[in-house]
Amino acid sequence: MKHSQSKLIRTRVNPTSEQEHSSPLFLTSSFTFDNAEDMRAAFADESDANIYSRFSNPNVQEFVDRLCVLENAETGFATASGMSAVFGSFMALLKKGDHLLSCNSIFGSTHTVISKYLPKYGIDFSYVSAQATAAQWEAAITPNTKMIYLETPTNPGLEIVDIKMVSEIARKHNIILNVDNCFATPISQTPIDLGADIVVHSATKWIDGQGRVLGGAIVGKKELIHEIYLFCRSTGPSLSPFNAWILSKSLETLEVRMDRHASNALYIAEKLQGHAKTNFVKYPLLPSHPSFAIAQKQMKNGGGIVCFELKGGIDAGRSFLNHLKMLSLTANLGDTRSIASHPASTTHAKLSEAERQAVSITPGLIRISVGLEHREDILADILQALEAC
Ligand SMILES: *Cc1c(COP(=O)(O)O)cnc(C)c1O
Repeated sequence: MKHSQSKLIRTRVNPTSEQEHSSPLFLTSSFTFDNAEDMRAAFADESDANIYSRFSNPNVQEFVDRLCVLENAETGFATASGMSAVFGSFMALLKKGDHLLSCNSIFGSTHTVISKYLPKYGIDFSYVSAQATAAQWEAAITPNTKMIYLETPTNPGLEIVDIKMVSEIARKHNIILNVDNCFATPISQTPIDLGADIVVHSATKWIDGQGRVLGGAIVGKKELIHEIYLFCRSTGPSLSPFNAWILSKSLETLEVRMDRHASNALYIAEKLQGHAKTNFVKYPLLPSHPSFAIAQKQMKNGGGIVCFELKGGIDAGRSFLNHLKMLSLTANLGDTRSIASHPASTTHAKLSEAERQAVSITPGLIRISVGLEHREDILADILQALEAC
């Protein structure tokens, strides 16, 4: 099979004696052995037999194997949520005295983990802007920098970081590059091909794509993933087999879903551009995006998120949400159903005005997760709410 999409579709757990066509659900906490010798060998890591579902499970392995096909990764480990993937990647690979260099525009809970919890374990951190140049990234590296962490496009500002540029700096200084690829998904960009060592995912978003389950994963270089596996198998953030079964099925349709999410999103962005109630519309593959050239270079599509800024600031943002008739108001993103959110009054309300400005969250910023409804219906709801707000 030449194409990763075919390989992903045809990757599955071995069929049981029933010869079922679709992978069954292995809801079992543990696995049995025929004799003492087989059990000894499994515990001694001399066989890859499943022992206990905190360590491994066939449904979880199928999900990981399929994600590795898409991300072009050597191996991976799946976790109960995106945050346990992020946390596991930090705790397994960093130690007291190490320094983590991160982009400042990152998911809120990741920011909390880095700035509130890592210092408790003696792990130092600093941030650089998503717009930092190669020289600014390099200047922020210290002798004890062990890992560079970034998200691109960023949430919710949709800033674009040049993965190849940062990976060349990381390689030069022998630093691990860890990229959160949740927003783009491997359908649009594959950070490992651009030089990342590991990729973390919240599978809760586009990978599930239907707002049902939480999940996460870390994929990448064998020796790094092995450390993460050892940490996670002892500390317990493992993905449930049921969620893995759902997420593995979801991966089969990720490409067709993301193609539609992205074409709907580009259509909405183009139609909203220049609207009298807005100051700007932001989408990675709009030529007006400040990092359009980088986005074009590293992304196959612009993803499913569109942002725009309302001229009326915070009050207009709240009024816009109140006037929507079809779009959902909810904390999730990456669903079949389109979702609107107003970061300044919700997810980022606890930040100061200056802190919000630093990560491109202006008072009137609206984030739309563009779903799979007909694009004219999505656009019509946004336009009528814009008129009314
Ligand atoms: C949601 C999200 C996470 C956290 O994932 P959970 O599955 O909610 O734990 C991490 N990174 C990004 C970019 C996200 O959007």
